[in-house]
This record gives sequence, C-alpha cells and structure tokens, in this order.
Amino acid sequence: MKVVAVANQKGGVGKTTTALNLSAALALRGQRTLLIDLDPQANTTSGLGIECDGEGTVYPALLGEANVRDKIIPTGRENLSLIPSHMDLAGVEIELARGDDHLTRLRTHLQGLKPNDLFDVCILDTPPSLGVLMTSALAAADEILIPLQCEWFGLEGLAKIVHVIDQIRDSGANTELKLEGIVMTMFDGRTNLAKQVVDEVGNYFPDALYRTVIPRTIRLGEAPSYAKTIFEHDPTGIGANAYASLADEFLTRHAAVGPVLA
Ligand code: ADP
Ligand code: MG
Repeated sequence: MKVVAVANQKGGVGKTTTALNLSAALALRGQRTLLIDLDPQANTTSGLGIECDGEGTVYPALLGEANVRDKIIPTGRENLSLIPSHMDLAGVEIELARGDDHLTRLRTHLQGLKPNDLFDVCILDTPPSLGVLMTSALAAADEILIPLQCEWFGLEGLAKIVHVIDQIRDSGANTELKLEGIVMTMFDGRTNLAKQVVDEVGNYFPDALYRTVIPRTIRLGEAPSYAKTIFEHDPTGIGANAYASLADEFLTRHAAVGPVLA
C-alpha cells in the first residue's frame, strides 16, 4: 500500500478535488483505494455523500484510543473506502500537542495496515495549515502530491511546501518522504499567465510536474454539492478526462522501478 498525502498549506488550491477524484479514478481502474479525510472541514467526506460523527474519524486513533483500521467504511463505490472526517477533528490539534509520539501515530497505524494487503493505495486529504494533522499526514506518507493553482502566488506556496518536506525529512519523523508529483489545477487556457506558471514549475521541477493539467471547469466545482465524484456527475466531461489521465500518469509513475522521484 502506497501512502500519498495530497498537501499544500494553501487553502483553495484543489487538494480535496484532487484527493477525491484521483481516488475515484484509481478505484475505477481496479486499485483498492483507501481515502482518509484529515481536514476538519470534511469536504471530501461530504463530497462523497457521507456523514459521520467525531468518533468515526481518525481522531480516536490519533489519540491512541482506537485503531484506524476500525474506522474504515465503504463509500458505496467499488474499490473505494473512506475514513471520514468531521469538524470535531479540529480538536485534535490541541489534544495531540500533549503526547510525545503524536506526530507519528498515524504513521504507525498505516504501517500496521500495510502487511494486511487490503489496499493498493491510500490517499490522504490534508487541511490547509501546518498543524498537527498536516504534519501527521506528512510523517505517515510515502509520497506527497502537491496540487498547485495556476497563479503566480501559487509559486510562493510551492517554495514553502518544498521547505516543509525538507523539515519533515530532517526532523527524523519521515526521512523517506518523497515528492511524488506536482499537479497544476484550475487551469484556464485563455490566459497566458496560467501557461507561464505551468512552464515555470516545469523549469524547476521537470520530473515532478504532471503532464496532465486540471482545467478550471464548473462541473468539477459543483460535483461535491451533488455528493458525486466527477465520474458520477459528468463522466464524459473535461474534468473527468483530466482526472482519468492524472490517474493513468500516477499508475505509470508507480509502475516504474524504484522511487519515482528523488
Ligand atoms: P482545497 O482542498 O485545496 O481547499 P478544493 O479542492 O476544495 O481546494 O477547491 C477549492 C474550491 O474550488 C472548491 O469549491 C472546489 O469545488 C473548486 N475547484 C477545485 N478544483 C476546481 C477546478 N478544476 N475547476 C473549478 N473549480 C474547482
Ligand atoms: Mg480541502
């Protein structure tokens, strides 16, 4: 089971949209996928039409009072399971600051799941802050996938998150954390700016940058309000095509021998 954190400390960059629809695309391709919603805003959870209370989240597991395995629920979609979120999860930031091993608890649980061979891939959706939840996710992940908005200020965010990756590695919490990729989101082909930003990222991170660019489309924005993935809401549209192609690229990268990216 590969654990991939979808992370960027900036909000509104397409983390949730990517975590959800990449997971859905991988599940459609037969990958047994576990999606874990680590954002107290619970947009991934509600986007799948699922509700839970605080007990149903990773919260008790992060406190050392339950096993993450017992929090996994079906989503009603083949190959796609979820550990949901709830706004109560926000309380974890305060509770967890007390424990010593708090940052590596999620890691320990997910490592414990690996030998069971229940899932091929585990995708973590993370909150837009550098708190305990995001740090736990980065400590637990084998790889980080960074969604980046096609705007100039997105580049500043990229520099920051790359710095955070270094910090996590240096802290010893996860010395093996790899940059899995960077995916450009909300691309508007009518503007030169969007193209320039994509080129700029490609100059600095030629290997990490996904060839697939996610277009800005109303369908992607509105799908969660119908509690649908893009494959259920608009299966033949450009949003579904983009996430399908992202999943194909993801699988090609992971079929490669050895680490995909340094
Ligand atoms: P984050 O999780 O990083 O905060 P979201 O995935 O929730 O970002 O996206 C922020 C908002 O933009 C949401 O309302 C979402 O539906 C919308 N959105 C995300 N990606 C796209 C896209 N490619 N086209 C149009 N709207 C999008
Ligand atoms: Mg989100």
